[in-house]
Amino acid sequence: MSHIKESCLRKFISRDLDADHQEIIENHLYECEGCMDTYFAFLENHSLSITLSDDFTNQVVEKAEKQHPKSNPRQLSPKKVIANYIIAAGLTVVLMLTGVFQVFIEVTNDQQLEGRPSITEQLMHQTNQLLDQIKEVDN
Ligand SMILES: [Zn+2]
Repeated sequence: MSHIKESCLRKFISRDLDADHQEIIENHLYECEGCMDTYFAFLENHSLSITLSDDFTNQVVEKAEKQHPKSNPRQLSPKKVIANYIIAAGLTVVLMLTGVFQVFIEVTNDQQLEGRPSITEQLMHQTNQLLDQIKEVDN
């Protein structure tokens, strides 16, 4: 199988591809470490101008659930399961890389700031929901 072109990967991240191509690339990411690395590199560059919608995240989580059914957890190799989680947690990784978590921790440690940055809290909340979903898949 040939690897994903960088231009395609960029379009994948910004969801400029049709559903078929999105799926092809997504499936390739599950299986190809090299393209996964490139994918993360692009994600980092994307920073907080996130075009990874909740919709995408949900789709990936759904996909991970399908590929990792609770009744048959050994269907996938551990490596693939990890890859699924990494993709599903892509948003979380981006947030961590861009230091949002750090900001959030600093804010919560300083009660005098009156919980001002609600956007950060919302992001944190969504990320926690995602992590909970991932944990549920794991159980
Ligand atoms: Zn590849």
